Amino acid sequence: MLEQALRTHFGYDSFKPGQEEIIEALLSRQNVLAMLPTGTGKSLCYQLPALVTEGLTIVVSPLLSLMEDQVQQLRSSGMKRVASFNSFQTREERKRTSSLLPQLDLLYTSPEMLQSKWLLERLEHVTVAHFVVDEAHCISHWGHDFRADYLRLKQVKKQLGDPPCLAITATATPRVREDICEQLDLRHRLDVIHSVNRSNIYLQVEQHERTMAKLERLSLLVGTLQHPGLVYVQSRRQSEELASRLKETHPHLRVSHYHGGMENADRLLIQQQFMADQLDLICCTSAFGMGLNKPDIRFVIHYHYSLDMASYIQEIGRAGRDGGPSLALLLSTPEDVGQAKAMLERGRLQASDLDWLLAPLQEGEALADDWFEQRFEAFGAGNGMWKSIRFLLEQLGAINEGVVQPLDRYALTEALAQKLTNRYAEREERLRAFLSWTERTACRREGMLRYFNEEPLSQHPCCDKCGGDLTLFQAKEKNHRPDRFSWQEELALLFGEREEQRDGGPYS
Ligand code: ADP
Ligand code: MG
Repeated sequence: MLEQALRTHFGYDSFKPGQEEIIEALLSRQNVLAMLPTGTGKSLCYQLPALVTEGLTIVVSPLLSLMEDQVQQLRSSGMKRVASFNSFQTREERKRTSSLLPQLDLLYTSPEMLQSKWLLERLEHVTVAHFVVDEAHCISHWGHDFRADYLRLKQVKKQLGDPPCLAITATATPRVREDICEQLDLRHRLDVIHSVNRSNIYLQVEQHERTMAKLERLSLLVGTLQHPGLVYVQSRRQSEELASRLKETHPHLRVSHYHGGMENADRLLIQQQFMADQLDLICCTSAFGMGLNKPDIRFVIHYHYSLDMASYIQEIGRAGRDGGPSLALLLSTPEDVGQAKAMLERGRLQASDLDWLLAPLQEGEALADDWFEQRFEAFGAGNGMWKSIRFLLEQLGAINEGVVQPLDRYALTEALAQKLTNRYAEREERLRAFLSWTERTACRREGMLRYFNEEPLSQHPCCDKCGGDLTLFQAKEKNHRPDRFSWQEELALLFGEREEQRDGGPYS
């Protein structure tokens, strides 16, 4: 019966590993915690149940582009009873969606939107069949740092009558899985946990002495590798600079940049162009690509470090969804370590900062939420920091139902500072673990799997440490090469490869 639905609604003949088990559990009203590798059909695990059950399935999704992308894909394959509800829509659009709620099968929305009383009141009048948190690792990764509304989903779920809940992700260590279950209160549940491994992605790390050498190497690779590809950088400015540089050196390649600071419309446009094969390469920050369902990305190059292993696996997992051989390459220099650490430190608050920022809290008064948000922003505290602090204040009992409680200011700031310190320490530890993975002398895949408490496996081709070369990923046609590819550059490419085999660099 489920296979019939799979065929009718999606046109597929059989389930992919894990899908059927998850769907059956959801349909029998169980909670599910699921981990399936990147690109292996997680969306279908909640889309199919949504189509075959009465009532509305709510999907909490972290990004606007992701919601839009999924809604568009479903609509274009003939499923019309789907919508998204997000902060970029006009009031009219949202009103229209809310009036349609009783007829919808699927509603994509964000944790922030689910804090809207207006929306919740309307949702309370419809039957919610399932409550889904897609990319559920965000609860643990972002919830504690800058998207505190992820931590309020438990309450939302309760308010909606505790429907069966699916939390699904591609990357969650046992610790993160525990956190997800605690934050969503998933006590009685089925766990469907598969490996994070993506066997068609070849892993390589190259340490370069200097940024110039790294840039030259990148330029050569971009000229020879099979496209389309992604290049991840750490900052918005770097994504723009690198894109314009590569456009200059490779005039016939269609290169663009993407980051979170761009206008929404521009972001959607670039994503659509990329999906429609109108771009060969995007230089982007981590803001690009989550949930992106492009089958044929052939390489993902990191021009800077990711800040932890899970993010790295998410980002490289955008390659090779069609199962074809794909490359994940990390290029680094010693300087990049400092840049990564600085990223973690950005907007970090000390006890004295908190003391000053929270001084205007007045016992017995209603909390001036917007005012504090602006105060934190003007101070340069990280994005979402006020919401995070507000959440902690509630937990510590300093705010109750929006009213400031009697305070021992000293004890309060100390408690907050301690919580923040612990969080920074965890983030530092995750970065440290990732950096040490890049310096490994043994199999990289094994290191990656071990990080997720998985047993190592052997496969070929695997990674630079197990032997292999990049020729497998080079474009077959000559015309992919830049016109200005000189013999010096050809030589440099060769030397680059040789240096690789010598395995030089300060970290290896
Ligand atoms: P994930 O969220 O796990 O990264 P998606 O849900 O975006 O992956 O799915 C990746 C691709 O796999 C999509 O194009 C989807 O239509 C396809 N897919 C999903 N389930 C099946 C199936 N049972 N058979 C064939 N293709 C499938
Ligand atoms: Mg997905």
